[in-house]
Amino acid sequence: MARARTSKVAANKAITTNAVDGLAAESPWPISSVGVAEMPWLRAPWDRFLLMHRQDRLPHGLLVTGASGLGSLTLAREMAAYLLCADPVTTPGAERACGQCAACRLRLAGTHPDIQLLVRDNASKDISVEDIRTLIERFSLTRYGPLRVALIEQAERMNRSAANGLLKLLEEPPAGSLFLMTSERADLLPSTIRSRIQRLTMTVPRRAVIVDWLTQRYGLSTEEAELLWFIGDDRLMDGSPPSWDWQSPTTAWVRLMTERDQVLPVVKQWQTIDRDVLARWLMRIWVEVMRVHSGLPTEAPAPLQPLIQKLAGARSKSHWLKVHRVLLEFLQSARHPLNEELALDRLALDLIDPDLPARLV
Ligand SMILES: [Zn+2]
Repeated sequence: MARARTSKVAANKAITTNAVDGLAAESPWPISSVGVAEMPWLRAPWDRFLLMHRQDRLPHGLLVTGASGLGSLTLAREMAAYLLCADPVTTPGAERACGQCAACRLRLAGTHPDIQLLVRDNASKDISVEDIRTLIERFSLTRYGPLRVALIEQAERMNRSAANGLLKLLEEPPAGSLFLMTSERADLLPSTIRSRIQRLTMTVPRRAVIVDWLTQRYGLSTEEAELLWFIGDDRLMDGSPPSWDWQSPTTAWVRLMTERDQVLPVVKQWQTIDRDVLARWLMRIWVEVMRVHSGLPTEAPAPLQPLIQKLAGARSKSHWLKVHRVLLEFLQSARHPLNEELALDRLALDLIDPDLPARLV
């Protein structure tokens, strides 16, 4: 893992110069990024942020919470950009960073000294105490303007010692500093941290609003947009093209449960997918399988329904209940990858027989 990290850092150094080493997988300010103005469901938390700023009530710690896929990182990025901009647009309803001042140009180039990013990276999901230390060190270096912003994506990735490090910063925040965090699972953050930050909660828009938005934004059919809504991948909101194949991993899962000796082909298929996306996907599918077993209508888009029915029919309800623990463990391990191939082998075997780990111990 250490090697993977190093090469990733080297490959991305040119575009992520102000990101803490090893934790930024892509340019933190993608040029194609979709803005708050284009995502109507972000308007309410954005307005609350603007109000706090106008009234000079911004706290030292601010947490954007809400389901994955709603654009929490976009919102946090725009807040940072707005605060660092020397000449932001303040017209009511159109507030944003100007994108042209010296500060904005530095930020867009990834070289603004007053912003530190701990954004998600496929190679290393956790945030260690070293990452937090690096953050503190860089905060004490020369500053450009009156405010310094640290942006921590998925703050629940912090391990215990990292959280303690951040807590110290929140208890005695350096002058003119703001810690902006996003989290889908704020309940996983230590209560000591939660009590020292303010929350901006994103409300979940109706399914039709998101599907409409995806259709217009990417020129998709309603059916494709429904599938993307179902995946709920945050990166779509950040301007990444919707290229992920949803059907193959699901079909692979059906094969795993219905045919013999399918472990290797399935593992090979699943290896082609980002583990975090795969883990979320399998969990979403699991929810639908349980709905079928509980006699509830499934919420999955139509093309997925036959596959979900097949999965549900392949095993009993008690089997699927046990699979929940397997998937939870996989979701957690997706954030602390050790040996990818081994972990996927193990996942496939555990999905076939969730009692296997207990028997082997
Ligand atoms: Zn500006």
